[in-house]
This record gives sequence, structure tokens and C-alpha cells, in this order.
Amino acid sequence: MSTSSGQFTHINENFVCEYCGRHVQKAKTGCRNHCPFCLSSKHVDINPGDRANECRGQLKANGYELDGKKGIVLLFLCQKCGQKTRNKSLRDGPDPDDYDLILKLNVR
Ligand SMILES: [Zn+2]
Ligand SMILES: [Zn+2]
Repeated sequence: MSTSSGQFTHINENFVCEYCGRHVQKAKTGCRNHCPFCLSSKHVDINPGDRANECRGQLKANGYELDGKKGIVLLFLCQKCGQKTRNKSLRDGPDPDDYDLILKLNVR
């Protein structure tokens, strides 16, 4: 792995997935809110990024859509409140989403 910038600083938004225990690096571009290894996330947002939801349930990917502009968009279902959310799949960066796992999901 090589970086062209030559300077890499750790940012605080890396996280440990509480569902599979793996360390997840924050994406360099875009917004990562789910674990690339088990495709799980935590239900913390009402609108993307606002952290205003008090549900805190587990969001599990249960399908995906193919979007002409965004590519793969993962569909999540909250295991606690049943709300459905979606998040663009990240295929670049240090920890790309597990493509094999995505392919096992149902395409909509
Ligand atoms: Zn995980
Ligand atoms: Zn929820």
C-alpha cells in the first residue's frame, strides 16, 4: 500500500465495529457509517450525519440497489425499530466494503 501524499495522520473517526469487533478506518472521501466487514451500522442518524436518532439499534444490510450515479447503494434494516435506511457502498479507500458479502444480498 502506498500513499502519494507522503503524510498520513490518524484521524479520530476510525472506529471499532461493535458487531464484529474489527477496526474500521474512516473513508478518505465520502461518508462511511457502516462496517465494511459485516455491513452493519448503528442507527444514530435521522438525516445522514446528524446523530440525532436515539434508537441506537443495529442496522443490518439486507439488500442493495444499483444506482446509475452512485453505484452500489446498500439498504439497511434497523433490527430494533424496523426503519429502513440506505448508504452508498464504499469501494475505495483503506477498507473497501466486502464485495462478496454484498453480492450475497438481494438486489432490488
Ligand atoms: Zn463489523
Ligand atoms: Zn432503529
